[in-house]
Amino acid sequence: DERMVSGELHEEDTSVEYSLRPESLNQYIGQTKTKENLRIFIEAAKMRNEPLDHVLLYGPPGLGKTTLASIIANEMGVQFRTTSGPAIERAGDLAAILSSLEPGDVLFIDEIHRLPRSVEEVLYPAMEDFCLDIVIGTGSSARSVRLDLPPFTLVGATTRAGLLSAPLRDRFGVLCRLEYYETKDLCDIVSRTADIFHVGIKEDAALEVARRSRGTPRIANRLLKRVRDIAQVDGENVISIHTTQKALKMLQVDAQGLDHIDHKYLIGMMDRFRGGPVGLDTISATIGEESQTIEDVYEPFLLQIGFIQRTPRGRIVTPLAYEHFNREVPKD
Ligand code: ADP
Repeated sequence: DERMVSGELHEEDTSVEYSLRPESLNQYIGQTKTKENLRIFIEAAKMRNEPLDHVLLYGPPGLGKTTLASIIANEMGVQFRTTSGPAIERAGDLAAILSSLEPGDVLFIDEIHRLPRSVEEVLYPAMEDFCLDIVIGTGSSARSVRLDLPPFTLVGATTRAGLLSAPLRDRFGVLCRLEYYETKDLCDIVSRTADIFHVGIKEDAALEVARRSRGTPRIANRLLKRVRDIAQVDGENVISIHTTQKALKMLQVDAQGLDHIDHKYLIGMMDRFRGGPVGLDTISATIGEESQTIEDVYEPFLLQIGFIQRTPRGRIVTPLAYEHFNREVPKD
């Protein structure tokens, strides 16, 4: 059961995402600080005629890490090769990928925190000295051979920088944390996507989609696609605020971008625990979801918008959330 408002890639996204991907830093909306940094590093590397230093991109899903990695390759004028942590099972798999690179290529490893440890060890000398240490033979006749690799740029992406081992993290020269987008940036993304879809959208309607997209371009594009479908069925040429609100109501995405799962979490805490503090394990037992999922998937956005807080005694629901549901804050 996929959530309309999750930043994870859904099956339905894949058909359009490719065409929506910005291709240059200039087309990439928002993330100003990250863009400024990258622009300087890219310019300097090009002047030195060297590959760009290895880059680690981290932040929640759907914020544009893969997009940015492919832009880096475009800006450097090199090939973009992609793989992911879970896809590389053995050291030999990585060795094969690395030795097939052309000089200067960008190798993108998504979910890099999920690389097996044995594979990670192959990556260290590759990142540091552009070489592979290969063991040939077994037992007493085993010997290690060093193979040179073409210089390349590794771009790693992760949703959880904290899960990366220290030796791996230390080998990245450039660290970029992607932030949730501001509403005005999401509004620009919605307008840009509407252009690519060849549909018109009123400014207030684009703003409404942006506001409900949880700071996440992937969600904004997904919501717009659904709103467009409904506008089309209604025979509306330029998407109006009225249709947008109707569509988002049908999709059960509320004014803040919350869905039934967020409601279950928040209302559960308000009704059963007077808003907390409640321990994670208790929440987990109450709503029947694993603690890890609650922490990784349910809570980050609620924390981001200030609807919950983490305290040493557990989670609490804030007055802001009570206000959202038109409820009185319990007096203690
Ligand atoms: P991630 O790798 O972080 O999960 P993606 O790079 O796949 O996210 O981005 C998801 C989609 O959101 C992309 O297909 C792209 O269309 C859109 N997108 C992401 N960032 C931007 C941006 N800064 N400007 C415009 N569109 C963006």
